[in-house]
Amino acid sequence: MLALVLFPLGCTANRPGERPGSGEATAIRFEYARVVMGSRARIVVYAGDEATAIEASREAFGEMDRLNLVLSDYTAKSEAMRLCASPAGVAYPVSADLLDVMLKASIVHEASGGAFDPSLGALTSLWRVSFKSGVLPERPVLEDARARSGLGLIEIDAGQSKILIRRAGVKLDFGAIGKGYAADRALDVLARHGLNRAMVDLGGDLALGDSPPAADGWEIAASNDRGDSHPLLLSNVGVATSGDTYRSVTIDGVRYSHILDPRTGLGLRSSQAVTVTAEEAWLADALASAASVLGPEGCRRLTERWPSARTIWLAPRAPNRANP
Ligand code: AMP
Ligand code: MG
Repeated sequence: MLALVLFPLGCTANRPGERPGSGEATAIRFEYARVVMGSRARIVVYAGDEATAIEASREAFGEMDRLNLVLSDYTAKSEAMRLCASPAGVAYPVSADLLDVMLKASIVHEASGGAFDPSLGALTSLWRVSFKSGVLPERPVLEDARARSGLGLIEIDAGQSKILIRRAGVKLDFGAIGKGYAADRALDVLARHGLNRAMVDLGGDLALGDSPPAADGWEIAASNDRGDSHPLLLSNVGVATSGDTYRSVTIDGVRYSHILDPRTGLGLRSSQAVTVTAEEAWLADALASAASVLGPEGCRRLTERWPSARTIWLAPRAPNRANP
């Protein structure tokens, strides 16, 4: 994932208590950061007093922690992993949150022609090993994981709030949608406390609320490691970036991304980075990952399906032997 550098307008980063000096004399900027879902999570809110900001932000971080225990594939205790460990072929009752994410992921899966696939966990687990070892998975091992991947192996019964996995060894991976989803929910929590001028940044996936006081939006810079930067001024929108700038492995001279091409089961060999803005952060997150697989031409189908979504492509990092 690329760094999305965020500078709330008119404020000094990391220093709460700055008065914007606009008509909203009571709005003070507060900023808090913590690790959530293995990533740096940051909340910026404008509130009338510190007690409200602290209480609302604590609850918002708590909401992201709670969703981690629903969605994570890094702990066997999460609801998603308990579902995957349940007997194959038996419908398993799931929470409203897990059902909601599964349905949203399915929509993007279908719209992307399968480029976005939350059921690739068996393959992403293999790739995590390759990232550490620098060795590609053996062909039979890769084929076995491919046979345990694919949304065709999963049945969703939305009415009964149940999910059935047809085959043992299927593993869900919400890594390409979960952070955006959790950022949205955290922004909802802040809004319930009356803090609408707020933004949540979960590992670079952003849920933006109303603009900071006296500003036309939150000033965002989508950037890559070549120093390219694209400035954006946004509010009430989700923003996410996918790419391999910080997460790739080079094996036998070929650079592979942590994003997999579901058609091959292998990491992408292109090194494009794409920033997506969409109505909510879960959608921006999922679309950015799908667009990475589809490329600038292929992702037109996504922006046709979601006309308000915007894609910003950053230049590839360096020529890749496989994709010169
Ligand atoms: P992101 O950084 O949002 O693009 O998410 C990347 C993460 O999503 C990876 O680390 C995997 O856990 C998972 N993933 C990889 N490839 C795909 C894919 N084609 N569809 C959905 N999730 C994927
Ligand atoms: Mg994503």
